[in-house]
Amino acid sequence: MPKTYQGSCHCGATGFEVTAEIDHMRVCDCSICRKRGALNFRVPKEALQMLTPLEDMTVYRWGTMTGADYFCPHCGISPFRRPSAPTEKELAAGATRFEGWAINLRCLEGVDLEALPVVTIKGSAL
Ligand SMILES: [Zn+2]
Repeated sequence: MPKTYQGSCHCGATGFEVTAEIDHMRVCDCSICRKRGALNFRVPKEALQMLTPLEDMTVYRWGTMTGADYFCPHCGISPFRRPSAPTEKELAAGATRFEGWAINLRCLEGVDLEALPVVTIKGSAL
């Protein structure tokens, strides 16, 4: 059963809700995931409801410039991102396009991180 989770950055300037059935977390070793230390869970676009304006956040783009890392301009926490579009190489390897959000589970209340199975993503190899 999907559940609605309350999410926020550290200072509270960014607030949101995510409705999802969270049954695992993705730990990726790509250049940004390693440094962020995020535990990700992907949801469809409509599963994220902003309680504060998305426009108030700062967006960081890098690499292919197709992804977008949203972070709070006050406290610097990045609670979610739009994953990058797959490269030709990734598409050839069977990757599919994903139009939703990667939510940082560390920014949601009421998620038992220690109880969730880890799915390892080798983003660095793509
Ligand atoms: Zn903040």
